[in-house]
Amino acid sequence: CGIVAYVGSKDAAPILLEGLQRLEYRGYDSAGLAIVNKTLRTRKVKGRVADLAAVVPARFRGGVGIGHTRWATHGVPSDVNAHPHVDGAERVAVVHNGIIENADELRAKLTVDGATFTSETDSEVLAHLIARTVKDTDSLEEAVRTALKRVVGTYGIAVLDAERPGEVVVARNGSPIVLGIGEKEMFAASDVAALVRYTRQVVHLEDGELATIRADGFHTFTMDATETAKEPLTVDWDA
Ligand code: GLU
Repeated sequence: CGIVAYVGSKDAAPILLEGLQRLEYRGYDSAGLAIVNKTLRTRKVKGRVADLAAVVPARFRGGVGIGHTRWATHGVPSDVNAHPHVDGAERVAVVHNGIIENADELRAKLTVDGATFTSETDSEVLAHLIARTVKDTDSLEEAVRTALKRVVGTYGIAVLDAERPGEVVVARNGSPIVLGIGEKEMFAASDVAALVRYTRQVVHLEDGELATIRADGFHTFTMDATETAKEPLTVDWDA
């Protein structure tokens, strides 16, 4: 339902919680976030963003993170089914809006291949798929592109790799993703409402487009790794 991502020098967790709160009007049944502080740290709960805020410890410090509010489509609303979803090695975390149509087929193949699933969601296949490709690729964006080629369905996603703590990769296919450009910090979200407190400079992704955000900027590209040139827009909106 709602996605927020941050890369910069501030602590990500409060920014993610604030952004998720601004997406509350869309409705949701659970909320979660992941940050990198040496390792991946994840908290997720059935309930409100305020319930999530209550269980995020003060020691969750770190300048990169992703957050989500879920509107369940596959699997009941529960703590376990809330996003982010993480692979077994706890290296890759994913938040996902949309529906993965071939999730059952991918889940069966990944299970044969040794993956252990913990949730009932369609989204969890993304974490395992990307985790499998990330070990054999030079970049997170290549791993995400490779994984998404096997996916049929709709998605807006944000992906974190604990071994590459300076970046988040996002992708859009049928579910919106917008980038927010800050001063030595970058944001991404499913809705500009999550960003307007921090920046008015935004870039909307098209379907089939991906982006890597880092503190010092971003770049956008297609599923076949062709760079796309995007002009930022200025949002005129009272925060
Ligand atoms: N299909 C996913 C799920 O049920 C994502 C739902 C959403 O867009 O929030 O977990």
